[in-house]
Amino acid sequence: MGRHQGRNRLTPEEWADRIAGNVRELARAATSVENRRPEAEALLRLLSERASGALIVGLTGSPGVGKSTLADGLIRAWRAESKTVAVIAVDPTSPQSGGAILGDRIRMQRHWDDPGVFIRSMATRGHTGGVARATSDLALLCAGSGRDLVIVETVGVGQSEVDVAGFADVAVVVLAPGMGDDVQAMKAGLMEVADVFTINKADREGVEQLERELHQLPPRADGWTPSVVKTVAHLGQGIAELREAIDKCRQANFRARRAAALWAKRAEQHAGWSIDHLGVAVRSIDKALGFYRDSLGFDAAHRETVAHEGVNVAMLPAAGSRIELIEPLDDGSAVAKFIAGRGEGLHHVALRTPRFRETVERLRTSGARLINEPRTGAGGHTYVFVHPESTGGVLLELIEEKE
Ligand code: ZN
Repeated sequence: MGRHQGRNRLTPEEWADRIAGNVRELARAATSVENRRPEAEALLRLLSERASGALIVGLTGSPGVGKSTLADGLIRAWRAESKTVAVIAVDPTSPQSGGAILGDRIRMQRHWDDPGVFIRSMATRGHTGGVARATSDLALLCAGSGRDLVIVETVGVGQSEVDVAGFADVAVVVLAPGMGDDVQAMKAGLMEVADVFTINKADREGVEQLERELHQLPPRADGWTPSVVKTVAHLGQGIAELREAIDKCRQANFRARRAAALWAKRAEQHAGWSIDHLGVAVRSIDKALGFYRDSLGFDAAHRETVAHEGVNVAMLPAAGSRIELIEPLDDGSAVAKFIAGRGEGLHHVALRTPRFRETVERLRTSGARLINEPRTGAGGHTYVFVHPESTGGVLLELIEEKE
């Protein structure tokens, strides 16, 4: 604990200066970040404000496609130019040892005694959202500490890969022929975010087929056409081409700009949110008003019928927020079914959401189950419902916060 106490006395500026170019200090800071220590928060806030020239590459793909060997090739390419590298190895699919194994493999190979290469394995804590957050924080730390290249290596084809691709400057998806890595089977979200495809082990049979499938993918919404690079990483073949593809993508810069914007917002990510109202499903608004209006004294300021939702609503300003009483118009409405199943009660929580479109987009990319497309409802606000299955059992209504 003494160490942490010592660091507490440093200002974030002093701490940031100390980390730059010092692998041991960087490792200690990484531990603070992983443990979500308050002083690490201040450090990250500072680093996210500092301009960083780091390139963050997400490297993802199924186990066995040779990501670590590819990472090793990229490290060597950057080190040959005396550039510094950080590798963050994450394995959310294997809570016990997977991440450690990845990192160890790289470490054992040749970089363990090179201070120009910082390697961190992420022991996952089973919570995907937490892993994604910790990973992006570590990447931010490494980039902010002046590393030229930050490789974030993830295993599997799950949510974390999509999240990582979301904050990397360049997302590289690695496949290999004959690995059962059939393009159809890959998570659609991952295909959407891939900036560069690498077919590793390209000396094996089935390369042409895989290449064909990748070239047949539907065009990406932002107009970027991912490059397809063939590598045989253990022989060092194709690494130069991969690097070229990464640089080309970086120059296109759309993702770097997005990542910068994302990070700039990090500090204020949760500022501006508030609870707009709590939705309470009742059989009869008039009867419920007997309590809320007559007994508690809340004013039913606003009543309206929302035909497309099959409900009448009454909004009552209450306790700095609002309570929305919802009464079904008929037995067919979703609220009627809710009451039939569970009785009257708390039906949804509505959050006023800054950067609404961006948030909805992020939810969509992350695979959260949205019940409707954003639309305009009572009081003229734009809203979207998120299914309880994605939120921990509560129906969540996100309402656009106009800026
Ligand atoms: Zn509502």
